[in-house]
Amino acid sequence: MRATRTAAAGVLIAVAGSSACGLDGMERPTVAHKHSLVIGVKADQPGLGLKRGPDGGYEGFDVDVATYVAGRLGVPKSRIRFRTTNSSVRESALGSEVVDMIFATYSITAKRKRQVTFGGPYYVAHQDTLVRADAASITNVRDLKGKRICEVTGSNSWRRVVEERRIAARPVNAPTYGACMDGLAAGRLDAVSTDDLILAGFAAGRGGKIINAPFTDEKYGVGLRKGDLEGCELVNRALTRMYQDGTAGRLLTKWFGKSGLKLTTSVPQFEGCS
Ligand code: GLU
Repeated sequence: MRATRTAAAGVLIAVAGSSACGLDGMERPTVAHKHSLVIGVKADQPGLGLKRGPDGGYEGFDVDVATYVAGRLGVPKSRIRFRTTNSSVRESALGSEVVDMIFATYSITAKRKRQVTFGGPYYVAHQDTLVRADAASITNVRDLKGKRICEVTGSNSWRRVVEERRIAARPVNAPTYGACMDGLAAGRLDAVSTDDLILAGFAAGRGGKIINAPFTDEKYGVGLRKGDLEGCELVNRALTRMYQDGTAGRLLTKWFGKSGLKLTTSVPQFEGCS
């Protein structure tokens, strides 16, 4: 009897360790009180989320911010597993519990908020446009009319041009921003329009010209399972601290100090957990 009771208590503790109770009494997964975390990041975005070789680790600003936040949630680096999470699978990876959190140049949008709870933003990027170094005819987002731009599946950047700004560009599909850069180099695309941090990371290694005509605010959120408000509050507390203790400024300089971008080192206005 005693053994049974102890075992049952153990199960209860294990469940309590990874879930929170909703108002309806249902257990909900949360990133609070977890022993280990699986964190979704990008794998081919230099400076943000880049996987070094098949057996290598991940590196970049998103990876460092994720490591800091996980640490504040009580999970050291040794108990984090990073997992490649492309733009097309971010919502499904959270929903199906393949990942616990996402730090992957993931802009907070009204549409995504219906499926995802967002902590942060931990940074506000701005959409800009990268062209080949010899292209002179594109100096503003409106010049993308009739031009072949990259459409990454699940990403919002091409929509900002074609749907929000109603500019009649010609989107060409690609699975990732790394593939967009290949397409630009090979002449299959005229421009890659997306977040300035992403473009700066690529331009540092692969060249090209950022036209320096930013036209949006991209609030980089921490993707959490819909309803994980407890986790979201803890994440926001960690992000506030990351700015207050100087880590955010240090990480921005580490990854983008040479990019020429104007870096913001004050804590962004949080969206609020919902
Ligand atoms: N930040 C934009 C988005 O969330 C573009 C980058 C990306 O897809 O990761 O859609």
